[in-house]
Amino acid sequence: MTIKTVGVIGSGTMGNGIAHVFAQTGYQVILVDIDQKFLDKGLATIGKNLDRQVAKGKITEEVKITTLSRLTPTTNLNDLANCDFVVEAATENKDIKFQLFKDLDAIVKPEVILSTNTSSISITEVAAQTNRPDKVIGMHFMNPVPVMKLVEIIKGHACSDATVATTIELTKALSKVPVEANDYPGFVANRIIMPMINEAIFALMEGVATKEAIDEIMHLGLAHPMGPLALADLIGLDVCLSILEVLHSGLGDPKYRPCPLLKRMVAAGELGRKTGKGFYSYQTN
Ligand code: NAD
Repeated sequence: MTIKTVGVIGSGTMGNGIAHVFAQTGYQVILVDIDQKFLDKGLATIGKNLDRQVAKGKITEEVKITTLSRLTPTTNLNDLANCDFVVEAATENKDIKFQLFKDLDAIVKPEVILSTNTSSISITEVAAQTNRPDKVIGMHFMNPVPVMKLVEIIKGHACSDATVATTIELTKALSKVPVEANDYPGFVANRIIMPMINEAIFALMEGVATKEAIDEIMHLGLAHPMGPLALADLIGLDVCLSILEVLHSGLGDPKYRPCPLLKRMVAAGELGRKTGKGFYSYQTN
């Protein structure tokens, strides 16, 4: 089947980036969220990111306009009935994702691959919510999606080789680099990065150093593009907490115990860039 129309679910941090990249590559994109205000915010972010690409001379104004014209926002999941591939990038919550995959299975054509951008939830369990577990796969984009090259491709227990091959081909069509991983909690990227972020938050909580010092040490000392606390703000503290909880329960090792300061900040609604405040303060749109 030729993939022409892609359904993207969730227009938050990741969903709007995924929709942006597919639309810029030439795919028609149906972008779904639960409320028009989230879609408006997602589309505004795509517009701003495209403006930045134009200002840097990376794309023309014409490419920007065509890209935006390929995006169709909707709050109705049924509008995905005719799409040829789905990327789910809704909130990192098992119940939400399980319900979405049950619904998608009933709405989307049976031959269509349903992928999830989950950072940590078991692909095998997500697939088990559907009658097409062979066509469910992890397609884990990195943040910020328009910039980052890697897509972790995660094969669930029942996922077919054909599904993997199609997803790899699609990833390459987006000019991204697919790398395969197996379905264990956190896969590869988050299993390694989240304990580092968590340890940085413990170091801050215990007063080992200031947030600026912790970030500067990792930035300059280890040549990381940004420090772990700034990275946590970029990812979203709620997302970090969810991933750590999955690592903690899925691997059963206390070393993944989420830092109490992270839990407290999430409870206070300080989720990082998306709410304007996390470890640092940001201007919101
Ligand atoms: P986010 O909170 O920024 O956005 C999630 C969006 O999903 C929100 O707009 C929300 O309204 C929407 N949503 C919730 N339930 C929905 C439903 N039933 N139908 C449609 N939309 C729904 O979250 P995010 O950071 O974009 O994360 C999305 C997914 O991507 C998660 O699975 C997360 O683990 C994964 N991910 C995140 C990052 C990151 O750096 N933030 C990186 C890689 C993967």
